[in-house]
Amino acid sequence: MIVDFHTHIWPDKISGKVKQTLETAYNEQWQGKGDLEGLKTTMSEGSVDYSVVLPVVTKLSQFPSVLSYAKEINGKDGIISFGGIHPKSENYKEELKQIKEAGLKGIKLHPDFQKAFVDEIETVRLVDYALELGLIVSFHAGFDPSIPDTTYCTADRARRLVKQVEAGYGTIILAHMGSNMMDKDVDKYLLDLPVYFDTAYCLDFLSDKRFVELARGHGIDKILFATDSPWRSQKKFVDRIKQMPLETEEVDKILGGNATRILGLS
Ligand SMILES: [Zn+2]
Repeated sequence: MIVDFHTHIWPDKISGKVKQTLETAYNEQWQGKGDLEGLKTTMSEGSVDYSVVLPVVTKLSQFPSVLSYAKEINGKDGIISFGGIHPKSENYKEELKQIKEAGLKGIKLHPDFQKAFVDEIETVRLVDYALELGLIVSFHAGFDPSIPDTTYCTADRARRLVKQVEAGYGTIILAHMGSNMMDKDVDKYLLDLPVYFDTAYCLDFLSDKRFVELARGHGIDKILFATDSPWRSQKKFVDRIKQMPLETEEVDKILGGNATRILGLS
């Protein structure tokens, strides 16, 4: 079983424009189309059974449209969509309940796009309530190349968040192996915490040796395969993980075993 725990798609009518805007902002080309059909195509090329779609609400007003698209795509053709919510929302409890009632399994937060530090009160109280509802919380973590001046989810701030919500009873994911392009801080602040890391985007910046060191150092049971598609190729990342100097059992856990457990898939 292969589960990609970090992908992005947009509704057909805006995906072309989003592609243009984001490729310009990041000065990088997508490896997929960024829409539902495109994701299904790359999933079959990479033998990916499930893709978790992580939408980001960048403006408060986007909540209803993001929720309605998530509901539309969730649960079909191997697509598992999380919900999006903004930490500055005054109605965060109501919105989280709507996400839960829609049958979505988690939420995505992007502290940089949302200009909300991961350890500030708005984020902490939202995460606390989301975990109470049994929702998984996935964070962009570490450096974001499109916002180079301030990093809103550094490893030390992420540690402060986790210590405040005491995540023992819920599931928090720090994307990009805990801290994108800032992996030295991961050793210092995150390796003993009860949080998951995903492998999205950052595999290209880590040597095999360093990846294995981080994955085993943190615990193989807490590593989730992910690509950040369409930013990265699902097939290439699947192949890369399979080629890592890891035991077969470790590869199986990373590629899908751990995700299956968290998501309750059979
Ligand atoms: Zn992403």
